[in-house]
Amino acid sequence: MTAADLLHPEIETLDPAALRRLQETRFAAQWAYLGSSSALYRERLGAALAAPMDLDRIAALPLTEKETIRLTQERRPPYGEHVACAETEIVRLHRTSGMTGRALVMAQTAADAATTAAVGARAMRSAGLRPDDRVVHCLNYCLWTGGVTDHLILEAAGATVIPFGVGNTRELIAAIRELGANAISCTPSYPALLEKLLAEEGGIAPRDLGLTLALFGGEPGLDNPSFRQRLEAVWGFRVRNANYGLSEVLSILGSQCETTEDLHFHAGDAVFAELLDPATGERLPIRAGTVGELVATHLGKRCQPLLRYRTRDILTVTGDGRCGCGRSAWRFRVTGRTDDMFNVRGVNVFPTAVRAVIAGLETLSTGHFRIALAGPGPYDRIELTVEAAAGSAESGWADAARTIETAIRRQIGAAARVRMVAAETLPRTAGKTNWIERSPSR
Ligand SMILES: [Zn+2]
Repeated sequence: MTAADLLHPEIETLDPAALRRLQETRFAAQWAYLGSSSALYRERLGAALAAPMDLDRIAALPLTEKETIRLTQERRPPYGEHVACAETEIVRLHRTSGMTGRALVMAQTAADAATTAAVGARAMRSAGLRPDDRVVHCLNYCLWTGGVTDHLILEAAGATVIPFGVGNTRELIAAIRELGANAISCTPSYPALLEKLLAEEGGIAPRDLGLTLALFGGEPGLDNPSFRQRLEAVWGFRVRNANYGLSEVLSILGSQCETTEDLHFHAGDAVFAELLDPATGERLPIRAGTVGELVATHLGKRCQPLLRYRTRDILTVTGDGRCGCGRSAWRFRVTGRTDDMFNVRGVNVFPTAVRAVIAGLETLSTGHFRIALAGPGPYDRIELTVEAAAGSAESGWADAARTIETAIRRQIGAAARVRMVAAETLPRTAGKTNWIERSPSR
């Protein structure tokens, strides 16, 4: 790997001190812009906006919640009171699906769109996309950021992009073959859908489609090594987590590189990242081992700038210092959501961590489970219902339960009580499964 493989080596190889100087310079201008142009932050911060500010001292400023953005968009539709530019400057708007609450409208100026494309393209290049790749883009183009915005990101990475969207899988298979696509951009669950269709049609093995690179995003699952290995074995493509982002902040903030399976934070010149202790809200140093909620501050956003925006994503920092790929950006995994976090005798537990433990015990379980939480907590232990492996003898379940309890205590640091049930007992839901079942206090 040489610097020539990096899309923006002048940014991507900056040492932390130089990056911080660049961030401070950009933030000073952004702070002045908020003062002159953002009704939301003028109302929230008042006279404080008139005084100089820096990125250390913003730690004392209030956080911006997603709910605040929702409310300002209700009061001043469609963009909200945090819109800071004139209508004439806005070139594109997206709307979220609103699956977890009221939909949000995200809009961009031409300069915002250029930044989004540049940072995203950096991420795609890092994940392995090159100008001689022909990539078919299979995310939803209807309203959602993942469609046209990520399409433009793929173009900005220099690749040839085939716009496809979702649905029409039969046509997609024909298009991949006839147009010679060698890369696919989609959700991690999409290949399974294609496999099913190929099996029904008969004759074509997934490998025969000739895809060599898969750029995934939009859903969890890729941190499970057996899931990745199976996809690579069946399809013959390299699996890359290429697309971590939040449409309120930046469509793509993070992706893997070719030397680690963790994600690089690629957006240091556009977004200032803080990691906050989920229990105390204190800012934590970004270094290997830190676990905290990502809080994002735009450094140059014109349309809907955000200051200290709570993403509710919990990141675990896995690396700082220079990576083997030459990039200096820190590495991380997304290990939970603050919404799902619960406390067991002083330990913050995330369902994703429980899922990871159970997924690692494939001989004992199907991987499906539920966590029962009675009342608001904190709790004495994790009450778990786990599906036993298909075909396993019921006489072995007690031992399996003890093994899982021990693994949870060792890997998460919390006590658990496990009850095994037969495979296929727990309801399967479309889309994201809810692992937690809450009930009022007993
Ligand atoms: Zn790297």
